[in-house]
Amino acid sequence: MPSPSLRLAVVGAGAAGLAAARELRREGHAPVVFERAAAVGGTWLYAAPAPAAATDPLGAAATHSSLYASLRTNLPREVMGFLDFPFAAPSSAVDARRFPGHQEVLRYLEDFARRFDLYGLVRFETEVVGVRREAGGRWAVTSRKVGEKGEQDEEVYDAVVVCNGHYSEPRIASIPGADAWPGKQMHSHNYRVPEPFLDQVVIVIGASASAVDISRDIASVAKEVHIADRSAPASTCEQQPGYDNMWLHSMIDRAQEDGSVVFQDGHSIKADVIMHCTGYLYDFPFLGDDSTISVDDNCVDPLYKHVFPIDVAPDLSFIGLPWKVIPFPLFELQSKWVAGVLSGRIKLPSKDEMMEDIKNIYLRRETRGWPKRYTHNFSGGYQFDYDDWLAEQCGHPPIEEWRKLMYAANSKNKAARPETYRDEWDDDHLVAQANEDFKKYL
Ligand code: FAD
Repeated sequence: MPSPSLRLAVVGAGAAGLAAARELRREGHAPVVFERAAAVGGTWLYAAPAPAAATDPLGAAATHSSLYASLRTNLPREVMGFLDFPFAAPSSAVDARRFPGHQEVLRYLEDFARRFDLYGLVRFETEVVGVRREAGGRWAVTSRKVGEKGEQDEEVYDAVVVCNGHYSEPRIASIPGADAWPGKQMHSHNYRVPEPFLDQVVIVIGASASAVDISRDIASVAKEVHIADRSAPASTCEQQPGYDNMWLHSMIDRAQEDGSVVFQDGHSIKADVIMHCTGYLYDFPFLGDDSTISVDDNCVDPLYKHVFPIDVAPDLSFIGLPWKVIPFPLFELQSKWVAGVLSGRIKLPSKDEMMEDIKNIYLRRETRGWPKRYTHNFSGGYQFDYDDWLAEQCGHPPIEEWRKLMYAANSKNKAARPETYRDEWDDDHLVAQANEDFKKYL
């Protein structure tokens, strides 16, 4: 029996939405991609913060992308690209670096959309504002043209694939006394360039890749940069190697009305700015209770394999929730799986079995002593087990050995050469293997 072609709504035309659109169409379905921006690329569509960022520098400020001007990828391009569409660097590339600037990633995603003829599937400047389950099990999707007040459109789809990203709704650190502290607070979501911090004293909270990049960016112009890292021992107060104006501390203890900020190490600094590089929240404002999921402490639950809400599977799915991963290949494999499940070619287990499997997700979290908000954290080698499981479900080869080794080599190199890992490495033999492998696609 040929599988039925379904009419599907995809929310978002970032890397995940593009991957989903391609795989759904390959499977014979008819996807419509809703994208509130005027272009594809999502995160990689660098944008100056909206004017609202000036009045609400801790908020989402109607800007989707969280990229700063100096951003270069933190993964080597060979690792980062889709499995069958290499992010290779032809001699004609504008930015052929192994860890290119963000503009090069956007060009790659645009090439992907062109190569697989995806532009025609996307409704640009169209925001999904509601997704509601109808009595017959289909989904009413309400959308509106961006900038047009009042006018809303409702259409019915067989299933909805959510690809709205999770790096645009800021998560803020709670600091005792912050309300009365007179300085400026902002979130890295609204950080773009260092110049506004000229001669200022800036406290950067966080230890993620963005916190590291942004603190170095700002140190080039600021008077002082103080990094508050909650995982550092309470007594930490260390000048950072290579910098005469940057220190690492433990977490902030409190902020005070006189403008000072006191760290757990006891040091008190008069600061101008607190920059929250404290991550982001999952947010699905268009979903109602009938989606059957809830988001609590940044855990989206209950989801089979981080993709399908059990009670409405497979008609609602989420692509791209896991973090600490190589995103694009994971999106691709999740999308292939969702496409195959929707057409009935790939079977899901029973609800009870899916629920039992979810318990393993909780167990993994608990055995690591992780808080609930780490539910979708795939660090510790888990991502490749997950990718390979998806691949097996789809009859796709597992993730290439060179990609796994290169990912590990990059993590090691980053730890050993935090300042220069993007320009110095020891894994040229893996680059050669990757480029050999890519020949079959180029
Ligand atoms: P997004 O790219 O966020 O796309 C979501 C899309 O959905 C957006 O276009 C948005 O406009 C749209 N949308 C949202 N809500 C709606 C709605 N209601 N209606 C219609 N459209 C909607 N990954 C790497 O591989 N390498 C890196 O070096 C790297 N560096 C990063 C650096 C930073 C600072 C950040 C924030 C992320 C980085 N990432 C990196 C991760 C990056 O987010 C992923 O690579 C990927 O771009 C995520 O794609 P996505 O499609 O899931 O989400």
